[in-house]
Amino acid sequence: MTPEEIKIKDKDIHAFLEVFDDAKSYGNGILSGKKISIKDNMLFSSHKASAGSKMLENFTAPYDATVVKKIKEAGVIIVGRTNMDEFAMGSSTENSAYGVTKNPHDVGRVAGGTSGGAAASVASGMCDMALGSDTGGSIRQPAAFCGVVGLKPTYGRVSRNGLISYVSSFDQIGTVTKTVSDAELLYNVIKGQDPLDSTTISDDTYKPSRKFLKVIGIPKKFVESEGISDEVRNNFAEAVEKFKSLGYKIKEVELPNLKYALPVYYIIAPAEASSNLARFDGVKYGLHKEGIDGIDDYFETRGAGFGREVRRRIILGTYVLSSGYYDEYYGKAVAARRLITAELRSLFEEVDMMLTPTTPSPAWKVGEKSKSPLEMYLEDIFTVHANISGCPAISLPSGLAGKLPLGIELTADLGREDNLFAAGKDFMGE
Ligand code: GLN
Repeated sequence: MTPEEIKIKDKDIHAFLEVFDDAKSYGNGILSGKKISIKDNMLFSSHKASAGSKMLENFTAPYDATVVKKIKEAGVIIVGRTNMDEFAMGSSTENSAYGVTKNPHDVGRVAGGTSGGAAASVASGMCDMALGSDTGGSIRQPAAFCGVVGLKPTYGRVSRNGLISYVSSFDQIGTVTKTVSDAELLYNVIKGQDPLDSTTISDDTYKPSRKFLKVIGIPKKFVESEGISDEVRNNFAEAVEKFKSLGYKIKEVELPNLKYALPVYYIIAPAEASSNLARFDGVKYGLHKEGIDGIDDYFETRGAGFGREVRRRIILGTYVLSSGYYDEYYGKAVAARRLITAELRSLFEEVDMMLTPTTPSPAWKVGEKSKSPLEMYLEDIFTVHANISGCPAISLPSGLAGKLPLGIELTADLGREDNLFAAGKDFMGE
């Protein structure tokens, strides 16, 4: 598709905040000629990067993010920047300051979030692949809603240099593609240790603790939690049968602490976000509003630049970090994070991967959950454990509920993307 054709097709979907008229090929490489979209929170030199926020409406990137540099070297064509929930806070792309992205399978429904634009751009055929970011499910959930493959790599595998921060200890850049083979291809291009991100790791940081034996663990109680839709239950049962028919051994496992992942996430995420977003003070970046004095400038700018959900998270974050509440909330969440991580990692001594649905329900109608932040947070039940522990996870398309796609999710031990690719290709018949 030419930029003009993409713009026409995107009128109904709104996957893109900008289609680049000057998109060009960066030469020969392993991804030569592949059309790729980047999420609006990644810096692409001399192009806008707004993180879906009014705060950065006119912000132009002064340099390339490491991932952007790497895909250029691999020969891609960067077709545009995709819509997202403001500062990557949300689960439906409805929190973007620039309008909602619609699901290409049903434009009355959301595409998921926060990389809703990324998933919709691939699912609708407007590009071949996309880069998204995943802090609590933001690649995997929209991939499931749009019927494509979404990979969140191990924490530290992909450099965050040039990614606008949300929760620095959870954020990870990953891929949205049509196939698992493409996910592997793109992942191999973007991964690697980077002197510009000291949290990145080398390829041999995590040695495999066991040989890949096609053993999958299912946390049965967790998968059967309240609030999981019948469509998802049935689809999941079919996926389990499919894995069995492919020669996988299925083991029921107990992870008693997994149920704390969601509350842990919704304490640590706002805490880190409130600190990361302090930099938007009307002086250093983006929007500036005049008040009656310096302090008032700060209030005016942040009041005008941040949307409701972002303000809610900042308030929650400063609350859980404030003296008197720190031990009760943040301190406890950090301790629980350690328990969840230890529990998951010891599971991976017994099984190669854990299997769950990606989401508790298919894509909802635009506006259906906008009034209830809590309902929206509950949608992340199956994805946040991977970010809390740093483990890699992939969402695979697993069929339809009516015309709406559903996804299943595999989580592997730290550094074991190879297991996800192997099982993913088996499941998809690649
Ligand atoms: N839905 C989660 C949140 O709102 C995750 C978002 C993400 O992964 N960026 O924080």
